[in-house]
This record gives sequence, structure tokens and C-alpha cells, in this order.
Amino acid sequence: MLNETLHPEATPDGLAHFRPLVQSGHHGPDSGATAGTLVDKYGRRITYVRLSITDRCDFRCTYCMSEKMTFLPHDAVMSFEECLRVVRVFIGLGAKKLRITGGEPLVRKDALWLIERLGALPGLDNLVLTTNGSQLDRYARPLFEAGVKRLNISLDTLRAERFRRITRIGDIGKVLKGIAAARAAGFRRTKLNAVMMRGVNDDEFVDLLRFALDNELDLSFIEEMPFGDSRGGAAYVSSEETRARLAEHFELLPSTEDTGGPARYWRIPGSETRLGFISPHSHNFCASCNRVRITARGELYPCLGQNDAVNLLEALRAGADDEALRQRIVSSMGIKPLGHDFARQMEASQVVRFMSMTGG
Ligand code: SAM
Ligand code: SF4
Repeated sequence: MLNETLHPEATPDGLAHFRPLVQSGHHGPDSGATAGTLVDKYGRRITYVRLSITDRCDFRCTYCMSEKMTFLPHDAVMSFEECLRVVRVFIGLGAKKLRITGGEPLVRKDALWLIERLGALPGLDNLVLTTNGSQLDRYARPLFEAGVKRLNISLDTLRAERFRRITRIGDIGKVLKGIAAARAAGFRRTKLNAVMMRGVNDDEFVDLLRFALDNELDLSFIEEMPFGDSRGGAAYVSSEETRARLAEHFELLPSTEDTGGPARYWRIPGSETRLGFISPHSHNFCASCNRVRITARGELYPCLGQNDAVNLLEALRAGADDEALRQRIVSSMGIKPLGHDFARQMEASQVVRFMSMTGG
């Protein structure tokens, strides 16, 4: 199966009539916008970019990929120089935080070359990375030295056989070594991400939290989203159900903490661990959305749950200068929707991308 069934139009509906806030001297009273910031038509400020640097991966997680994938040819993927240009333009538009993701970002050849340069870009306050952990044993220290501030590591189970089944080819031993290597390299508050799946890992939520507590890690549980081969409604476990189950074993104190992301947090007395729930179904987090996503092939997706995108790579390769690129990015704000509706999409998946393409 090809890792993309989508071919966005150069000018999606709604874009032609959008008058970007960023260009005018005056912004609406509620937008909170100042000159040089990227603001969508609902007044949300975009300060966070998630950049997928590859669609390839050394795992084939069932909820993320199909077993037989055809990956993009190399020349369809943004080069590192193209990535750097796009990120620089975003920083000029007020982006402060960048997450490198994939596919598995650390399987891209020479990923460190890019990450070191991104880490040195003036104006970028927060460079972070999402990984499956399989390569961290080797890369944790150079990533820390390159200025990566924090890691998210995906881990849905602690059981080797189950891990193999979920990832189809992964070795949990490597991931556990990677988690230890991240700590040894100096990373703190590393966060584990676990997708909740009924009948697959829903008997392990307590063990996963114990593991996080024992290893001074944060942990976020994620409601499964209807991408690719995901089983849709059958596997769905809500954040609320998981929280209630954990509350039978741990004292959970609600926290007002906000990391600028979609997670809601809880604290466990006596530990630093932050327990988060990312609930695209049960709690739509769109009202405070501050992010956009860029795929490995240079498409800018203003919303994870929609199919509309603006092609940046096409513009770059047609010789667009920074101002033209900036205009293209600003105009994409016209297609950022008010919200997504994963609950409705559960039964009839409208989002035909794979998560590995959009970057999670
Ligand atoms: N390979 C890296 C990893 O696994 O962390 C980075 C890319 S992966 C696409 C980013 C995140 O998306 C992972 O935490 C993964 O669990 C999550 N993810 C993938 N497919 C998902 C789905 N259908 N629903 C919810 N989360 C999903
Ligand atoms: Fe690879 Fe991450 Fe997708 Fe798993 S979730 S297949 S590790 S990209």
C-alpha cells in the first residue's frame, strides 16, 4: 500500500477568499496577534510546527501502518536544505517550537546533520523529537548535545511478545535500552506515549504507569485515531475509562498544567511523573490548537484531521523565494478548520493518510 493516497490541490477550497491576518497592521480584538505572527482565521496563533523528516520506519505498528508499505522515493522527500529553509521561514513567522517526527525520524540517513543545524537556529526556543526509541541507544547523547530539549518515546506495552505483535517487527529490548540511554545522556521528563487499544494492551495500563513512576518518566495515553489500518471503533478505549481504572490503583490529582499541547494532565502524589491523556475523540482540543504539520513530502497540513494541505515543496522546487514561501504559509491559515471530528470519522474514516505520513 502506498503511504499516501492523497493528492492535495494547490489551492484548496476556501483559500482563495482568505485574507491573512498576519499581513495587516491591525488584528481583531480577540486574535491576540501581533505583527510577525501566524494567526488563523479563528484567531489562533500558530507557534508550533511538527516536521516529519521521513515516512519510513523500522517498525510497522498496526494502528499506524499497513504491513506492506511502499515508501516515497527519495526525490519526493524534502531534502535537509529544504527542511531548513521551511523551518527558517516559519521562525520568521513566529514559530517557537519544532517537533521532529516521522515515520521514525532516526532511521533517516544523517538525521543528526539536520537536527544539529535546527538546534542552532536562532529564534527556535524548543526543539523536541518523537521517536520509537529503537535507535536511541546510539543517538541519545548526540541528540542531547545538538540541543534537543525533550524526547517523546512510543511504548504501548512492556511485554516482548506483545510488543512484537503491535509493531510487527520491533524488538522491545532495543527500546528499553534507548529509554535508559536517554536518561544517561541527560534527558529529563522524557515522555512515553501509549496508544490505548481494547483487547491489545488495555490490561497493562497500571503496569505502564508503574514503569513510568519507577523510571521518572512522564506518560501520556492516546485515544486511537482512525488512520490507515486502525480497527476503528472496536479497539477504542476512552481516556475517561483508562483514568478511572488507574484511579483504582493510584491517587490521581487533577493538574492545571498546560504544555501547549492537547494533553490533559494528572499528578501522582510523591512523584514528578505527569500523567497525560490525549483525547481526540472524547475531548476535542481544537479550540487551543497552536500547531501545523509538514509531511516528509513537503505538504503543510493545518489540521491533522482534515485532508486539505498546501504544497510547500512544489513551491520550493519551482524557485520560490522566502517571501513567496512565507505567503504560501500565511495563506494556508485560510484552510485551517475550526475543528476536527474523529468521533464521526471512526465509523467511516475520511482521513485516508497514514499517521507515519503526517507525523503524529
Ligand atoms: N515513529 C515515531 C514514534 O512512533 O513515536 C514517531 C512517529 S509516530 C507516527 C508518532 C505517534 O503517533 C506515536 O506516538 C504513535 O503511537 C502515534 N500514532 C500513530 N498512529 C496512531 C493512531 N492511529 N492513533 C493514535 N496515535 C497514533
Ligand atoms: Fe513507525 Fe512510529 Fe508508526 Fe510505529 S507509530 S509504525 S514506530 S512511525
